[in-house]
Amino acid sequence: MDLKDFASECLKDARSLDYYEGLYPSRGLPQSAAVCRLAPSPTGFIHLGNLYMALADQQIARQSNGAFLLRIEDTDSKREVQGAIESLSSSLSYFGISFDEGILSSPEGIYGPYVQSERGEIYASAAKSLIEKGLAYPCFCSEDELAHSHKLQEEAKENFGYYGKWAKCRDLGIESAAERIKAGEPFTIRLRSKGASDETFSIIDGIRGKVTMPRNSNDVVMLKSNGMPTYHFAHVVDDHFMRITHVLRGEEWMSSLPIHIEMFEAMEWEHPLYCHTTLLMKIDNGTKRKLSKRKDPELGLEYYMSLGYHPLAVREYLMSLLNSNYEQWRDNNPGKLLEEFEFSASKMGSSGALFDLNKLNDISKNTLAALSADEIAEFMRDWAGAFDEGLYKLYADNSYLSAIAAIGRGGEKPRKDFIYARQIASFISFFYDSLYAIEGTLPEAIGRDEAKKALSLYLEGYSHADTRDEWFDKIKVMAQSLGYAPNAKAMKKEPGKYKGHVGDISAVVRLAMTGRTNAPDLWDVAQVMGEQRVRTRISSFISHLG
Ligand code: GLU
Repeated sequence: MDLKDFASECLKDARSLDYYEGLYPSRGLPQSAAVCRLAPSPTGFIHLGNLYMALADQQIARQSNGAFLLRIEDTDSKREVQGAIESLSSSLSYFGISFDEGILSSPEGIYGPYVQSERGEIYASAAKSLIEKGLAYPCFCSEDELAHSHKLQEEAKENFGYYGKWAKCRDLGIESAAERIKAGEPFTIRLRSKGASDETFSIIDGIRGKVTMPRNSNDVVMLKSNGMPTYHFAHVVDDHFMRITHVLRGEEWMSSLPIHIEMFEAMEWEHPLYCHTTLLMKIDNGTKRKLSKRKDPELGLEYYMSLGYHPLAVREYLMSLLNSNYEQWRDNNPGKLLEEFEFSASKMGSSGALFDLNKLNDISKNTLAALSADEIAEFMRDWAGAFDEGLYKLYADNSYLSAIAAIGRGGEKPRKDFIYARQIASFISFFYDSLYAIEGTLPEAIGRDEAKKALSLYLEGYSHADTRDEWFDKIKVMAQSLGYAPNAKAMKKEPGKYKGHVGDISAVVRLAMTGRTNAPDLWDVAQVMGEQRVRTRISSFISHLG
């Protein structure tokens, strides 16, 4: 039996590699075009790291007229969660990520299937080609045997893995291995490593530049006994046949790079440009640590969606984390789309990116300040539609919501107090009668009777058609008639003469109209609320005062 027959014995129905080379032709793109992929596992937890990477992939691919594809890495069925792909799809599209190929695209593309569990034949074909070259072999060791070796290695303080004397099946010989396969023994397929761990190799990482690492010496598993590939082997095969040029992935994969490079070499394929991104970190009690799924709800994308962060704000923020020169570019180009920024992998930091919610909030304030009232209203409605049925019903009055959002918008100094939908909703809740609540208190200088008197006078003199100036003049006159200074300055000059100043009177009106001590400009608020609502609020407040 020669190696070719042996390979056929190991992987019976596998086709020749040439078949797939023909099926998945080169993309014929110019050298400068980047083909990137996002390769999440369907664990149901879509996190900021996925989005961070997707944004970089998308930018690199689009600006080079390449392609960006989605591949689902579902070879570990233990980690798979029902509905994970739907939530992946809705989260990524919420944040403006779109793919040129993959299961969310229609048509999917010619390099599919884009789900690893459907690509078994391709991995088998690649593994078979390595067995034929003597670069891979079947291994019959059971889980227990491997666990036992692991224990002995631990005791002897030796490196873990399948190598040297530990690699029991490496030199079984093809005849006896073939016998065992025929007898139906389960087996995995392992890489026959050159084992040169005393040698190093250098490689250019798209982010880190030149890195030098020891070579791999481990006969790692490529195909598991159920025929499924390991991550190591699957991504090598997929990135080759999907003609990927740039692999952006988390730095946790850096340590396995020697395995991946050895696999590419064994296959005689060119490897893509690896770009290992940094981990997202946060400052916690003065120390920098990795964002954790268990401790930090803000790691999950659901967090931003349910609070209603605007996707533009999150993208702006992530882009500023991804490329250190982004903020400067944004300052110089306030009106441009983020997509117009020239992204560069080499400008991505190589030491932990510091994630800071406060910074996101600041960026969000600026982003929302630049949107029109109609855009804000539409955003609020969409968000409420997904996350708050009660609000969604209230927001059905489109023009009222837009008018609310228009207060203080535009002009030289637009208001910058909107951060995310949930916060905006509570900010504007007083405009809605069903949500109006008296949260503030009367100014100290003004007792209940005095407040009632002031409000009654206000109501008597109220004319909804007054301009802002007419309205304010009226309040001043009324304040004075009650013994209040027309402004703070006059009060300061002759403190003994007044009970307070006009600000105290408008505070009472504000409290009656909004239930709050802080609110946007009262004249604006009244114009949006409409005359009837203003009058009703004031008279009910008078009754409330008893
Ligand atoms: N499925 C891997 C993960 O979710 C992808 C790593 C890669 O992009 O190669 O971490």
